[in-house]
Amino acid sequence: MSFRRKGILSFALFIGIITIVLLLLVSCLPSAEYGTEEEADAAAPYLITAAGGQPELPAVQADELPAEAEPVTVPADVPTVVPEAVPNAIPGAELEQDSNVGTTLFHPLSEDTKPVPSSVTTNTYVPIVPPKNTGKTSSKVSIPVLNYHSVAIDPGNIVVISPDKLEAQMAYLHDHGYTPLSLEAFIRLLEGDTSEKAPEKPILLTFDDGYIDNYEQAMPILAKYGFPATLFVSPGMTEQDGYLNWEQIKKMQAGGWDIQPHGMSHPHLPKLTADEQAYEIVEARKLIEEHLGTKADIFCYPYGERNKTTLKLLKQHGFRYAFTIDQGYATNEQSPFLLKRLFVNGEEDLHAFETQLLKRK
Ligand SMILES: [Zn+2]
Repeated sequence: MSFRRKGILSFALFIGIITIVLLLLVSCLPSAEYGTEEEADAAAPYLITAAGGQPELPAVQADELPAEAEPVTVPADVPTVVPEAVPNAIPGAELEQDSNVGTTLFHPLSEDTKPVPSSVTTNTYVPIVPPKNTGKTSSKVSIPVLNYHSVAIDPGNIVVISPDKLEAQMAYLHDHGYTPLSLEAFIRLLEGDTSEKAPEKPILLTFDDGYIDNYEQAMPILAKYGFPATLFVSPGMTEQDGYLNWEQIKKMQAGGWDIQPHGMSHPHLPKLTADEQAYEIVEARKLIEEHLGTKADIFCYPYGERNKTTLKLLKQHGFRYAFTIDQGYATNEQSPFLLKRLFVNGEEDLHAFETQLLKRK
């Protein structure tokens, strides 16, 4: 073969190879355009990068958004979605994203639900069914319950407070924003009933034993401030010297006082038999209910004394709560039959009263 002939053949072979390569390239072009899923996933512009730098949500092209609001689907292996990042990944689709698709990324807001943190993934999205609004809350409730007895002038007797001191204490409560409660309002608060707005500083005023000075001295002072109170009375002692009679008790009830039992004869309950205790507890309630026509199922232990039998009897006879003279605020974490109170020492000054009220929580 001559050198010239070799040159012609080589040129023809070169042209042939070029032609084949060009044909191959042309035939490959469509497969590059409609590449495999893996190839598409690998394409950088299709990925959203979250704050953490990890590939996140495959972008939804603006023109791919369905006319109807449908959720953005997220592959199961995508760990975190930052909802805020989605609109940025869909230029021109912000409005639609906000008004439609975006709503699938957040739980609905209502009184009972909170905004969902942005770290919550859409693939783990579970709609929160708002809890039934029972009007109850399980958080701690703590309310001071003041424990008074007689209101008179009797120097040296700590269970007797002078009318002037009582007046000063009521003025203090009024000026410092306290809201004395009716017994039922106190119980509703203690039970977590949120159907009414709770006062900022609730307080319960209680008077033990049923002294006649509660009617003559305490009632007018409390009435001046519009304060309700609770009276724990021993019906066996009514009508006796120094004690209230039923007419006075009825007037106190009409004036906003709740009347509840304190044992028939103000006994030392643990020293009595079960039957004797039952009589003291149940008869006292019965007489109050008969005279006043209202429920008297909140007990107060005379001298603060009780034993297991006492507690059993209260439960057995349907009492709802019982107050002790154990010192402290009454809370919903205490046994309903062991509610604490704050003893008001009639010999102490207003500063001591304030200190006790603020410190005893
Ligand atoms: Zn008493």
